[in-house]
Amino acid sequence: MKRDIHLVVLLLLVIGCSLASLTLWKVMASREQALEEVNIHGLNLAQALSTYSEGIVRQSSLLLLGLVERLETEGSGPAQIERLNQLVSRQQPLMPQMSGITIYAKDGSWLMSSNRPIPLNANSSDRAYFIHHRDDPSREPFIGLPIRSRANQEWVITISRRFNDAQGEFAGVVAVTLGVENFLRLFGQIDVGHDGAIGLSYTDGAMLVRYPFREQDMGRNFSKSPIYAKYLVDRSVGTASFTSSLDGVERLYAFRKSDKLPLVTTVALGKREALAAWQFEAMLSLLVVSGLLALTGAIGALLIRAMSRRVAVEGELRATQQQLLASNQQLERQAMHDALTGLANRRCFDEVLTEEIQRARRNGTTLSLLMIDIDHFKRYNDTYGHPAGDACLQQVAGLLSTCIRRPGDLLARYGGEEMAIILPDTSSDGAAAVARLIIERLALEPIAHQDSPFGYVTASIGIASAAGTGAEGWLSLLERADQALYIAKEAGRNRLHVD
Ligand code: GH3
Ligand code: MG
Ligand code: MG
Repeated sequence: MKRDIHLVVLLLLVIGCSLASLTLWKVMASREQALEEVNIHGLNLAQALSTYSEGIVRQSSLLLLGLVERLETEGSGPAQIERLNQLVSRQQPLMPQMSGITIYAKDGSWLMSSNRPIPLNANSSDRAYFIHHRDDPSREPFIGLPIRSRANQEWVITISRRFNDAQGEFAGVVAVTLGVENFLRLFGQIDVGHDGAIGLSYTDGAMLVRYPFREQDMGRNFSKSPIYAKYLVDRSVGTASFTSSLDGVERLYAFRKSDKLPLVTTVALGKREALAAWQFEAMLSLLVVSGLLALTGAIGALLIRAMSRRVAVEGELRATQQQLLASNQQLERQAMHDALTGLANRRCFDEVLTEEIQRARRNGTTLSLLMIDIDHFKRYNDTYGHPAGDACLQQVAGLLSTCIRRPGDLLARYGGEEMAIILPDTSSDGAAAVARLIIERLALEPIAHQDSPFGYVTASIGIASAAGTGAEGWLSLLERADQALYIAKEAGRNRLHVD
């Protein structure tokens, strides 16, 4: 039963552990899956936005290439500039992202500005893109950092190209300005959550457009950010996860570097936000599983308690059974033995005598019976008191038991100060020898008895024997032994008489 309780505890532990570990495993697996989905979503967004941005820059570059071609072949005189202005006016509606095209002379003064009149004394020789083209003979387009437009104070990005004169010397710059607002409008249509952000930057980390818009980020260099410092070093597309050093928010980033242009698009999503749905589901799972575990535990506890109670009851039952057995044995002993001397009692004597007579008759053996009566015992009691008489009886019983040696012999207290010995398979001579031994022993280890003519406790013994398979002799065996005892008494006591 104890083993059963241990098994139940083990079973409960196994159920609990497997349920807990399975749930934990499932929750962690679904977290990985949620992160994976967010990454894929981010990569797709970065891909789409990158294509969009690249398209605009490429379109602008192409437009500029056409203008440069014309300026270099036809020159930049007022008539040519006017014709270009008309051309640009026709093309502009085709490119809504473009807020304007400006042509600068080689000193930085404005030759043409689409859609609006040239401001008085306007000069852009201090602009980074102008300085770049003036000092660098490269014919490649240049993507400038965001600046505030001098015309309307809006944030713009410039894509520009240099044009040369007939001698191949620097003749001026053509620039397309793209309103940051246009990019923000598109980026704003994409849901990146509260902590998310979309960025378009230069490969060196300089920020061109960031959504949500933050004034301080315009043109800011993010080259120290892990995206540029670590991930973009050997990869052009990928995902990353790290905590922003600016606001301490952990984000999942998807980034993509343009193939041909020095542009990087990044889509960032707040990790906590991205995992919110998963977190809710995980909490729900944990709650349900905890409830189930608690229930299993409670049922298990009740089961174990019931089993323990049964164990306790069974233990008590066993103890009671043991007690009953012990008291039964004691009762049996008491039923067959004499309390004072510990010898077999009269009942036992009667039973054994009947059995032994039957056995002797069956086997044809001789059975002898000794009746022993202490002499003048009444006087002993009178002289020494009843308790001393009891002690004397115990002493005599002990002494008698040393005189019989065979396992089949039985010494019993027949009643009062009278004892009897059954000697199976013993002739009357053998019985007389035992009787003599008793009388001698009483003399050798004398118990003082001042009121007896012998001075010590003596006994008279009557002996009767029977043999044969017939009925005669057996029935009167006890009577004859009694008679022999009587004769011994009459003859003066402290002696034996054989019938
Ligand atoms: P006799 O020599 O003729 O046998 O004399 P007796 O006094 O022994 O014989 P009697 O039968 O007259 O007395 C037996 C006495 O033994 C009577 C009783 O007081 C005493 N007696 C019997 N049983 C017990 C006992 O269990 N304890 C004690 N102390 N005395 C007992
Ligand atoms: Mg007597
Ligand atoms: Mg007597």
